[in-house]
Amino acid sequence: MTNLQWERPHRVVLVTGGSRGIGRATAELAASQGWKVGVNYARDTDAADEVVAAIRHAGGSAVGLRGDITRETDVITLFDSLAEAFGPVTALVNNAGIVAPAAPLADMDIARLRTMFDTNILGSYLCAREAVRRIATDRGGPGGAIVNVSSAAARLGSPNEYVDYAGSKGAIDTLTIGLAREMASRGVRVNAVRPGITDTDIHASGGQPDRAWRRGATVPLGRPGRAHEIATAIVWLLSDEASYTTGSILDVAGGL
Ligand code: NAP
Repeated sequence: MTNLQWERPHRVVLVTGGSRGIGRATAELAASQGWKVGVNYARDTDAADEVVAAIRHAGGSAVGLRGDITRETDVITLFDSLAEAFGPVTALVNNAGIVAPAAPLADMDIARLRTMFDTNILGSYLCAREAVRRIATDRGGPGGAIVNVSSAAARLGSPNEYVDYAGSKGAIDTLTIGLAREMASRGVRVNAVRPGITDTDIHASGGQPDRAWRRGATVPLGRPGRAHEIATAIVWLLSDEASYTTGSILDVAGGL
């Protein structure tokens, strides 16, 4: 019988993009395991309110935190507000991310590329930076964990569809490896989960609402992943049960 859940009495996690899809499933699962959760979102306050209400209804603790991860001031405020609500932040799920309509690189304009890289790379780096500033033990923090949400696209390259998105997730894999080594002696574990095609709204936002089921049928397990199947891996990596795991990139992709 382990008693791991009591080893870190103070468990406060910021889930970026926690209002929908994989982020929502992660927020709800983490809360059910005793984490106090900051549910970040960019625009859809109703969706975030729904997640916070569901967590509280189930007996957990959560607060909705609106903020755009591409804006440094917003990112700092997100961490400050979560710490005000629940005490020092001990974990980050770097989950918020976007896609854009399928296109070959030759047809991608600079505005699209900037938005993609600003959100998926710069935003994730800013959140990771702010997390380690507050969590790392050599800076007076309590120690903790970061889980970055990458994508199988980082391995596959997503030709004719999303080479911009795939490259942005390659950067997340590299961040995971480098930051894990940077933080290993400073009390912060850093890992990534690389989902495959998962049934969320992100595909509709890229103009292909049926993509998850159409493409999911072609992966070895024959279906798209469910958000909670990705969340399970994320929350395990956050937990003390993963205490010897850092710098890992875990594929949760149905064999893709
Ligand atoms: P989703 O359903 O589209 O949800 C995206 C979330 O990110 C929403 O909560 C959204 O908030 C938030 N968000 C977007 N831009 C933001 C910004 N600038 N600042 C703060 N929050 C922002 O996405 P998902 O499918 O769950 O994907 C979550 C992560 O998994 C992403 O990093 C994605 O790349 C990765 N992933 C997904 C799949 C898949 O097939 N679904 C596969 C591999 C990897 P608002 O609604 O308020 O805008």
